[in-house]
Amino acid sequence: MDIFPIMQDNGVENLYFCQDGPSGLKAVIAIHNTILGPALGGTRFWNYASEEEAIRDVIRLAQGMSYKSAVAGLNLGGGKGVILGDPEKLRSRQLFKAYGRFIERLGGMYITAEDAGTTPRDMDWIAEETRWVLGTSSSGGDPSPYTARGVYQGIKAALEFVYGTPELEGRRIAVQGTGNVGSHLCRMLSREGARLLLCDLDQNACSLLCQETGGEQATPDRIHALECDVFAPCALGGVINENTVRDLGCRIVAGGANNVLASKRHGDMLQEMGIVYVPDYVINAGGVICVAQQLHGFDPDKVAAKVDAIGDTCRRVLEVSQKENIPTYRAADAIAEERMSRETVES
Ligand code: NAD
Repeated sequence: MDIFPIMQDNGVENLYFCQDGPSGLKAVIAIHNTILGPALGGTRFWNYASEEEAIRDVIRLAQGMSYKSAVAGLNLGGGKGVILGDPEKLRSRQLFKAYGRFIERLGGMYITAEDAGTTPRDMDWIAEETRWVLGTSSSGGDPSPYTARGVYQGIKAALEFVYGTPELEGRRIAVQGTGNVGSHLCRMLSREGARLLLCDLDQNACSLLCQETGGEQATPDRIHALECDVFAPCALGGVINENTVRDLGCRIVAGGANNVLASKRHGDMLQEMGIVYVPDYVINAGGVICVAQQLHGFDPDKVAAKVDAIGDTCRRVLEVSQKENIPTYRAADAIAEERMSRETVES
């Protein structure tokens, strides 16, 4: 595997390989772009099939963080760390302390936090060796209410774009996944009179949420095809794919999940079908805004104000897409790339 061509193709500034024999740590940290500020992004602990898969994943995730922070107006770059191996077998204080020492050596150019496979307790262990870590058990806590709040604002912006009014009263909204983000979102939508169609693999939890919000329970395999105003994916990535895109029954796709489009081609198809897609990393930036605020001491009012501005950002993305006649994911990328370009920062 040739690493430099992959770094060049994806605009990655640095890749750091870290290994520590005694703890069994094998990790890669990718710093994608630091033009706007130090690179923030969580650490994933995953049993990758190969080193190549881990390197490709860390690069893709770091790149995603640069775009998300840039569009959210944060003065932060994008980075990510991956620890290779089975978290159940390898997780130890010794391993996270070793990882923390590597992060400390980067002198603040990379700031880590939780991601899939890591927990606040792991962040506490990293924090024994470096201050460049967020999401410890004593910090601001679970970001998902803020993620949901941003998604709620983005849905209202999209409704206004399509129907001329952001009112939720009577709008049919299908929410896929009623976990942390989805359940908070449903409560906010139902308070304003939205008619909810909900599904989750955990049918009991979903049924309880239906009782609480007046929602109707739907089957997970057909939720995307229901006739509705908004389809809100809040579970998995890749939900808009070859098998689902032509069955969609909504006017708008806007939800909290990461990597909603299986590929860019599906974003082009949504545009051709006249379905308004609010790009995932724009609408779900509430979590990173919340985590980034921990760098400056956590002020819930400040975080809420920044998260509410996600509505304006979504509006801007939809307007650029309409004006330039380009898919919304391209409009979002263009806004992010403009913020990240050295010329913009230096002018
Ligand atoms: P979560 O694990 O709490 O909830 C996900 C829910 O989706 C679970 O209840 C699960 O049972 C359900 N689910 C999984 N597959 C499903 C399927 N096929 N059909 C229906 N339901 C299914 O996770 P979360 O924190 O709520 O995150 C949800 C999504 O939002 C993820 O894609 C995550 O990457 C993204 N996201 C989360 C945050 C955050 O602050 N938590 C921030 C940004 C993005």
